Amino acid sequence: MNLEDYHGVWVFIEEQEGTIAPVSIELLGAGRRLADKRGVELAGVIIGNQVKPLAATVFEYGADVVYVYDQTIFKDYRTESYMKALLHCCETYKPEIILFGATSTGKDLASAVATDLPTGLTADTTELDVEEDTGLLLASRPAFGGNIMATILCKKYRPQMATVRPKVMKALDAEPGRTGKLIEEKIDIKEEDIRTKVLEIVKATTKKVRIDEADIIVAGGKGLGSEEGFQLVHRLAETLGGAVGASRDVVEAGWIEHHHQVGQTGVTVTPKIYFAIGISGAIQHLVGMKNSSMIIAINKDPDAPIFEACHYGIVGDAFEIIPLLIEQFSHALEKEEVNHVGEV
Ligand SMILES: Cc1cc2nc3c(=O)[nH]c(=O)nc-3n(C[C@H](O)[C@H](O)[C@H](O)COP(=O)(O)OP(=O)(O)OC[C@H]3O[C@@H](n4cnc5c(N)ncnc54)[C@H](O)[C@@H]3O)c2cc1C
Repeated sequence: MNLEDYHGVWVFIEEQEGTIAPVSIELLGAGRRLADKRGVELAGVIIGNQVKPLAATVFEYGADVVYVYDQTIFKDYRTESYMKALLHCCETYKPEIILFGATSTGKDLASAVATDLPTGLTADTTELDVEEDTGLLLASRPAFGGNIMATILCKKYRPQMATVRPKVMKALDAEPGRTGKLIEEKIDIKEEDIRTKVLEIVKATTKKVRIDEADIIVAGGKGLGSEEGFQLVHRLAETLGGAVGASRDVVEAGWIEHHHQVGQTGVTVTPKIYFAIGISGAIQHLVGMKNSSMIIAINKDPDAPIFEACHYGIVGDAFEIIPLLIEQFSHALEKEEVNHVGEV
């Protein structure tokens, strides 16, 4: 393999029903930084049906080039068909780096493509950089339960591939009217060649708000004392139409499942409002929520580190304060004093 033949940073643009996944926009921001540091072009790869118009958005968020595979066969995401398109694109244009969102689609596609090429893939990265003298991608991720940050390099194979956690990288502001080079590609692929058939797509109907998409998160910590005490956090979240978050100690105590855990070994979130209730504010928790637009801390210890990370702090007992907040918020919402909670 001649490494010199490979150029450019690519972002796989994940799309559903004509909408680009937010993580792909974030990755265009991260990809732009890497491409500028390497002095190369940033490209977006779009695969789907009737997706060509999305290229305009991809340019506005920083891409110089967009490769589009717009064919009816790509209507629904299927590993085999998307993999074939991406492999075709890699063989034709030879990228140096490809980034994917660490979503179920991104993880599935990246692992299939990396195995077929074959090349190296770092999963679920939270930091990306390129090494000054070698230009190698430095893909870092928490490993061994978050006890170490591992920086992984792929020295001998190309492209260097990584999936990246949603909400960690910063998107650029859209530059309306910014444009670039659109390259339309096609591959010859028949329905009979694809083993996977999509019979139906069932959308989740749960009323519960997902933590990684929520505008409001009410997170509770060990200070709630017990699983029963933690129910207060659920009640406040329900009142506000928000999602429930938790510290690792709460998850380890078995009061809630791991996918609610915020922090280094949990989910990274950036809601409009983050309530941290009975959470001390350990660094491993803070890294997962510190970029929230507004952080409101409730803790009975005035010296708790969380007070250094919050915008508003209430020193007091959660068992007294949460019921008051529930009462006041329900009141206000009923009276429609606050008719859109997301803009409190
Ligand atoms: C490798 C590694 C990875 C980790 N990853 C994560 C992670 O992803 N996420 C994470 O959260 N942690 C993580 N941790 C754990 C982290 O270091 C802390 O131990 C954890 O965040 C503490 O959880 P807590 O704030 O709920 O509990 P505590 O630290 O016990 O804090 C409880 C707080 O509640 C307050 N309190 C008590 N009673 C009340 C009351 N009645 N009303 C109001 N306040 C009250 C106390 O003053 C205290 O500040 C990790 C640790 C390691 C070593």
